[in-house]
Amino acid sequence: MDTETLHPDTDPKQLAHALSGFNLIDGKLVRACSGRTFPVVNPATGLQIGTAASSDAKDIALAVEAAQRAQPAWAAIAARKRGMLVAECARLLNAHVEELGRLVALETGKALRTESRVEASVVADALQFYGGLGSELKGESVPFSPEMLTVTTREAIGVVGVIIPWNAPMMLMALKIAPAIVAGNCVVVKSAEEAPLAVLRVCQILNQLLPQGVLNIVSGFGPECGAPLVSHPGVGKITFTGSVETGRLIAKAAGDKLIPVTLELGGKSPMIVMDDADLDRAVAGAVAGMRFTRQGQSCTAASRIFVHERVHDEFVAKVRAKVDAMKMGDPLDEATDIGTLISREQRDKVLGYVEAGRVSAGASAIECSALPADDALRDGLFVRPVLFTGLGNDSRLAREEIFGPVTCFIKFSHYEEALAQANDSDFGLAATIWTRDLKTALDASRRLQAGFVQINQNIVVQPGLSYGGVKQSGLGREASLEAMLDHFTHKKTVIFNMQ
Ligand code: ADP
Repeated sequence: MDTETLHPDTDPKQLAHALSGFNLIDGKLVRACSGRTFPVVNPATGLQIGTAASSDAKDIALAVEAAQRAQPAWAAIAARKRGMLVAECARLLNAHVEELGRLVALETGKALRTESRVEASVVADALQFYGGLGSELKGESVPFSPEMLTVTTREAIGVVGVIIPWNAPMMLMALKIAPAIVAGNCVVVKSAEEAPLAVLRVCQILNQLLPQGVLNIVSGFGPECGAPLVSHPGVGKITFTGSVETGRLIAKAAGDKLIPVTLELGGKSPMIVMDDADLDRAVAGAVAGMRFTRQGQSCTAASRIFVHERVHDEFVAKVRAKVDAMKMGDPLDEATDIGTLISREQRDKVLGYVEAGRVSAGASAIECSALPADDALRDGLFVRPVLFTGLGNDSRLAREEIFGPVTCFIKFSHYEEALAQANDSDFGLAATIWTRDLKTALDASRRLQAGFVQINQNIVVQPGLSYGGVKQSGLGREASLEAMLDHFTHKKTVIFNMQ
């Protein structure tokens, strides 16, 4: 099938086939210089749905050169006009939400209704949000001296390298490319090897409106394709979401070049449930916060839930009942709440943690929901969600990021004890507290060590709200105006001597 004939109603399998083996460089779909590809597999069936270009330093060089060629003219367009074009991209993408949702469900195993369609609409939302911020790329006037007019301006960095993971590939890409492009940069994206197709399709759609070379995307493996993007001399900034280990490698390589990096890394996000909380709301919030609809594959997932001893048993029972009622099945089926994990490797890792928890002294593992009975899904990477009680905050399961449907419920008797344990973690991405007591809520909002704190609610990343972590959870913020200004521009000071 010719990619020109793709339209919003195209079947996701046909789409995957049509996009197979391509990068998008300088406005054109091109194959890797080496001609190599790697398979893309549907995790719900284990069947191959297509291929992706297996790119290396040569392909990266072509993409960076295309971005470098396009960048001066792109930055010369008035900022508000760049924004308007990005807002138009959002409108165009809105017509493709269903198609993109289905494609990302096919390649990641995330359920269409609860996750994938939502992700596709957040992509359009993020572009819309940043599209309106072009005129916010403004500077200041500084009262330095009466004889001098002193101003600051915001300038684009140049070429930005964007490295993304597979768990919410389109959304995480959009939160990086939209501010980068509105700020006047050109971009080279390196997609995740497990989910290269939906992001390629997003870039292909956006290239209908953006000048060629402004947005390029290349697929491949981390060391062969991601590392050359970081080290390429033409790249002036890297923005990355992924694991702590890779984040550290990228920060080191960027350090050698002395270029800035934004890192959104892991989390082990705590949720505290006080005994005065509105328990039913807290239960609903915990179920949403655990992100089991995405099989727990979220860095913000509430994976340590500290529950006051007076309500602990009732709370866990209510959460269990809700998770039990969730339907695991074909990600493309509208009735499905929970899809699959992304890969065999990830599934084995998660099952390893579950086994380690099961044999820990004092622990109980509550397995919820039921595996799908459909024969076509028998090789699917489904894992039953597990709620652990009786594990301490010092256990491996409470300290390491599992990235699977596994939550530790930890009983506490005093607020201070819960707070100390919540903060006793290498990570600091998100945190939540449920309480009706204003003083406790305020105190927790100040003392919880996290970049994103929620009181009596649980929402996911939203355009307009700064998002990012402290400690090992990363460097910098995303999703906000400040993220665009601080992470995708240089500030220049200009002094006019008027004498
Ligand atoms: P995950 O466990 O989510 O796969 P990774 O951090 O390994 O996390 O991967 C996130 C992204 O980083 C992927 O696109 C991957 O290909 C890329 N990546 C992995 N290793 C490197 C590396 N050495 N340099 C640059 N990018 C890398």
